[in-house]
Amino acid sequence: MSIDERLDLEFAYTSYGDSCRDLYSPSYRCRRPFGHDGVHAAGFGAKRVTWKHHPDHGPDAPPIS
Ligand SMILES: [Zn+2]
Repeated sequence: MSIDERLDLEFAYTSYGDSCRDLYSPSYRCRRPFGHDGVHAAGFGAKRVTWKHHPDHGPDAPPIS
């Protein structure tokens, strides 16, 4: 299964309320399940976009020691 096919499935089975909703732009918010691993993603087909969250914020930030 390609990453695009996997994302299509995640989007199909994740309601908006259960999604990550990380902001990419005013028209794109992450539609992967909340707490997912890896990059954020939104959109379908040619409009698919993926992005990494700013490393200083959010769940990808390294633990403060
Ligand atoms: Zn996300």
